[in-house]
Amino acid sequence: MPYNLVVLVKQVPDTKRITGEAMRDDGTVNRSALPAVFNPEDLNALEAALRLRESCGGRVTVLTMGPPQAAEVLRAALERGADEAVLLTDRRAAASDTLATSYILSCAVRRVGQTEPVDMVLCGRQAIDGDTAQVPPQTAEKLGWPQVTYVEAIEAVDGGRLRARRNTGEGVERLECPLPCLITVTDQGPEPRPASAKRIMATKKCRAPAEVETDLRAEMPEADAEARAAQARRRTDALAARGRLIPQWNLDDIGADLAWCGRDGSPTKVKRIQSVVLAATGFKRVEPTEEGVAGMVHELIEDHTIG
Ligand SMILES: Cc1cc2nc3c(=O)[nH]c(=O)nc-3n(C[C@H](O)[C@H](O)[C@H](O)COP(=O)(O)OP(=O)(O)OC[C@H]3O[C@@H](n4cnc5c(N)ncnc54)[C@H](O)[C@@H]3O)c2cc1C
Repeated sequence: MPYNLVVLVKQVPDTKRITGEAMRDDGTVNRSALPAVFNPEDLNALEAALRLRESCGGRVTVLTMGPPQAAEVLRAALERGADEAVLLTDRRAAASDTLATSYILSCAVRRVGQTEPVDMVLCGRQAIDGDTAQVPPQTAEKLGWPQVTYVEAIEAVDGGRLRARRNTGEGVERLECPLPCLITVTDQGPEPRPASAKRIMATKKCRAPAEVETDLRAEMPEADAEARAAQARRRTDALAARGRLIPQWNLDDIGADLAWCGRDGSPTKVKRIQSVVLAATGFKRVEPTEEGVAGMVHELIEDHTIG
């Protein structure tokens, strides 16, 4: 039986390549100083979806919410075999916390489902920048769907039910849940396939309308807004005619209530940002015995590290 699958992917700064310019003086992340990458566990989620489509048939739609340049992860997903990619971009979504992000993503999933009901949403377990792992569970709540987090393997999808193996940290759990559902996939999930050379050639010229506008701002710095808009229309029409236009939605397209989006829809208030530098000055070996551990705990309480 074919399945309609949606994979949520996020473009993130490469936290493995942090340089001195990565943080601004005010403690916020200087995203432009860090190369952007595909959130690693989202590649495992994409691979799980592609394998399910290969064994059962169906369709894989990849969805990201972000600025125009986030379309890069959509091209990377198309290169690996996704059928469709959608860029969700809107200035009114800026400053969204995880609650607003998950509301917006749930509206987008509903919009995908207008054409054909969605059977499963697959996400990475956690994004390496925000690092909360809150977005997928909140998205499932908003969709009113069951969720299975920390999935290592999809064992079967059959008779309207998913059978999956999840890692509890202390072992594994095998469970079943009805479709539609949302799952989060860990880096222990299926190994992501490399991009195919044929697909790279087919995809490299795909662009979202917001990227076309960014390109034109650089190419026609002197032109007025009307001239740029006319050129943008010509370029997007040409891309669409060749099947190279990445669909793009804004908050109106997905029927989102603006009160739940962006700063207005974000109850999280950042009171203070602190830059914590952990300076390792040496190490102490603790014997793996009752006495060794008791001694360590005693020391940590004495110097107020814990307690
Ligand atoms: C007060 C506040 C203001 C913020 N303002 C901004 C801001 O202005 N700009 C900004 O970029 N961030 C902002 N953030 C961060 C933003 O909330 C998070 O980046 C976002 O909600 C995702 O959370 P996370 O990174 O912890 O994802 P996690 O919950 O760890 O992500 C898990 C999985 O959810 C899916 N997912 C998460 N985010 C997306 C996405 N955007 N698109 C598709 N799938 C996704 C992916 O599958 C991912 O692997 C703000 C956060 C707070 C608290």
